[in-house]
Amino acid sequence: MVADAPLEPWAWRPLGAARRAVLLDVLVHGPRSRAELTRRTGLSRTTLSRLTRDLTADGLLADSGPAAATGPGRPSDVVALVPDAAHLVGMKLTGDALYVAVTDLAAQVRSTAEVPLASRAFDDVVAEMAAAVARVRAAVPRVAAVGVCLAGDVRLVDGLAWVTGSDFLGWDRVPLEAALVAATGLPTAVSNDVQCLTVAHHWFGAGVGAATFAVVAVGEGIGAGLVVDGDLVRGAHGRPGKVSHVPVDADGPPCDRGHPGCASGVVTVPAVLRATGAASFPAVLEAAAAGDARCDAALRAAARALGAVVAQLVNLTDPEKVVVTGEAREVATYARAQLDASLRRRLDPSVEAPPVEVHPFAFTDYAWGAAISAIRHLL
Ligand SMILES: [Zn+2]
Repeated sequence: MVADAPLEPWAWRPLGAARRAVLLDVLVHGPRSRAELTRRTGLSRTTLSRLTRDLTADGLLADSGPAAATGPGRPSDVVALVPDAAHLVGMKLTGDALYVAVTDLAAQVRSTAEVPLASRAFDDVVAEMAAAVARVRAAVPRVAAVGVCLAGDVRLVDGLAWVTGSDFLGWDRVPLEAALVAATGLPTAVSNDVQCLTVAHHWFGAGVGAATFAVVAVGEGIGAGLVVDGDLVRGAHGRPGKVSHVPVDADGPPCDRGHPGCASGVVTVPAVLRATGAASFPAVLEAAAAGDARCDAALRAAARALGAVVAQLVNLTDPEKVVVTGEAREVATYARAQLDASLRRRLDPSVEAPPVEVHPFAFTDYAWGAAISAIRHLL
């Protein structure tokens, strides 16, 4: 008899390029027949068979029976993702709290938590995040990676993500990825929150099936994410989609940088509250619906500003659709006619405006997006 070997800590095993391609295809598109996977990956049947056998042996894929017959010959077997094969920790960091979402490999949220921040000092926040990850690992098996998003600029320096500026946290050039990898031992993705949400919508949300689309998130600020020809636009400095300074009305109120007439001076939650004197965004909606003229005017102005931002994105990227989301997305539903008219008059008359979809939003969507960025980091 030998004593039981100590349990090896579980770790995600990096996949080669071909296995990654197969897993990613099944992850994003759902169960696939082997014949379809062979077609889509361009691999030989023998190679594809070996890859799916390996992924099945690793517990990442499972057979889910024969596909429905579509013609003569034996129907091809279908393989599906095993959602429980791994879990991911997604975290949205604000100036006040850490919002945590745990997802499975299929990006389904399994649990969420909110941790108030006692301090914004970088080392303290990293320690708080590492403690949150440790709590998840104590509760859930096979935690493969961590994703973090925040309102701020994130830039890769020598392959590692640095936060190069975040007003909410008062950080300037901090090595967040390296610090979290050191504190948790897990692969970690760090991204801007709107970019992160855009990736999530690209793979699993409102952007599924669209090769070119834009996400506009309206809340404490306004930002956009762009997917063009199937790829997220990253920009040269990690700062794409900075639409807060899009000029919308030369006579409009100044933005927080003092420019006259920027989108962020009209359409964000703080701008709407400044214009109305209301205590919260839901209170503005309620008052406007009850006939309050000041709140109604502020929401209409916000919708016109949003239309100008959407027009900018449409004119630059020719998207299949534009998704509006975030805490203040109801600007687009309350004053839809103003948004549409503002968009329309900024487009070439021969251009058809793309659908502008208002997407349901919960604040935990950011943490969900961060978990998806963690999956993306692995694949
Ligand atoms: Zn501005």
